[in-house]
Amino acid sequence: QRNLFEALRAAFPADLDQIAVETISPQGEPLLYTWHDLDHASARIANLLASLKLPEGSRVAVQVEKSVEAMLLYLATLRAGYVFLPLNTAYQSGEIEYFVGNAEPAVVVCTPGNFGWVSKIAFKAGTQHVFTLGDDRTGSLLQRAARHADTHKPVARQADDLAAILYTSGTTGRSKGAMLSHGNLLSNAEMLKDYWGFQPGDVLIHALPIFHVHGLFVAIHAALLNGSKMIWFAKFDPRAVIAAMPRATVFMGVPTLYVRMLAEPGLSKAAARNMRLFIAGSAPLLIETFNAWRERTGHTILERYGMSETIMLTSNPYRADPRHGGQSERRGSTVGFPLPGVGLRVVDDAGKPVPVGEIGNIQVQGPNVFKGYWRMPEKTKEEFSADGWFKTGDVGKVDDRGYVSIVGRSKDLIISGGYNVYPAEIEGYINDMPGVVESAVVGVPHPDFGEVGVAVVIAKPGAQLDGDAILAQLKAQLANFKIPKRCFVAAELPRNTMGKVQKNLLRDQHKGLFA
Ligand code: ATP
Ligand code: MG
Repeated sequence: QRNLFEALRAAFPADLDQIAVETISPQGEPLLYTWHDLDHASARIANLLASLKLPEGSRVAVQVEKSVEAMLLYLATLRAGYVFLPLNTAYQSGEIEYFVGNAEPAVVVCTPGNFGWVSKIAFKAGTQHVFTLGDDRTGSLLQRAARHADTHKPVARQADDLAAILYTSGTTGRSKGAMLSHGNLLSNAEMLKDYWGFQPGDVLIHALPIFHVHGLFVAIHAALLNGSKMIWFAKFDPRAVIAAMPRATVFMGVPTLYVRMLAEPGLSKAAARNMRLFIAGSAPLLIETFNAWRERTGHTILERYGMSETIMLTSNPYRADPRHGGQSERRGSTVGFPLPGVGLRVVDDAGKPVPVGEIGNIQVQGPNVFKGYWRMPEKTKEEFSADGWFKTGDVGKVDDRGYVSIVGRSKDLIISGGYNVYPAEIEGYINDMPGVVESAVVGVPHPDFGEVGVAVVIAKPGAQLDGDAILAQLKAQLANFKIPKRCFVAAELPRNTMGKVQKNLLRDQHKGLFA
């Protein structure tokens, strides 16, 4: 069994002088990195980490702005055999105190600007080494690494050895640290490279943050394992990404990135002509976005589904899937088929499989499923079934053609007067009404029904929406027990940095309505 870095390194092209990454410095200068550069620079950082003589299994916690050097630090951590722990750049002192206190990293890397307060928190938590890394190749990490050799033999790792701890997005509560092994990451990456048809000549546009599964694992691993160049953006800029499309073939984004590009007049069939594949995930892609993208670019977005605990789980087909009668259609509002090697089942609350097409709890198993939550053995036990399947916390169904759809999260399910109400169903009806951009339905406590739905609706610019009129229209379409009791028109939905709607905040905001 191999260190994940060795597998990535083995896929580098024979000619190491080719360009591996092209990007633009914060000052606007073009920057090019060859495969040689990636190899040498990650070796120097790996040698620096090795020189610290850290205990086996040490965590390297990293909260820095996105840069190619931040990716190199990830590769160096794998290479040196330690555990990479990326942290959202938006986190402030309260959050960093929690994560650093919880993970007890031996090494913390932060931005030069945050060194004062981050190092104070880190040293208090027992961290031995705090380095800085700026987004413009400044900071003590690279200064120290420059004194080390540019060759390094990757430390031997077993498939089961920990490679990273990824804290979940905290959409439903406090973030949990998902422990992912070299085997989890490598098996998923190899399978995706194949399932998504990565081929010689592919060029990936990388415009996602790298503290999360999507940007750090799915995107980077696919490109490196395919020996593909990345066009790297530290921040997402819709115009710059559209301008890069003629030189690229693959783009990965969360749904909000697609929405923002659709707002650009420059997005056209001509602009996207060289592209082979657009992939979306991390949050539900609205069918309107899916359709509008096809109309404007001629490309059908491939939606997939995954989570911090499992990396990727399902995907719409890139090409005909022989496991599903050769179906090749990418269907909007679905997340496609369970990926090769991934077991997926839909069960009721008692754990019994539900019939095809019926809604239930999604459970999964496979070589991609994580080892457990860091220092939460009880929570880990709760989230696995007696026969070893991971409870995703997502609610969904599988149709008779094998396509999986996500209906919502079990925590968002509303039980009203004893009936299950699925917010996504009601949101779908509201989103179809004229003048509506999107909506969110949440459950709030009610003295008679236990819980009732409350809808929050976002209007299109210029549209005049009336909450009561929306409810009246819903009544003509849906059973009474599903109709929200109140409907508010708002300016926007609360989202976290990954673009996920934070229903817990909406629930909190409206919990007193009927109390
Ligand atoms: P927490 O577990 O802390 O509440 P989180 O679940 O949002 O946060 P992540 O692991 O980043 O943290 O996100 C995984 C979740 O994102 C999935 O469980 C699912 O609910 C959602 N998700 C991912 N891809 C899709 C998709 N294509 N469609 C709908 N939901 C998706
Ligand atoms: Mg989750």
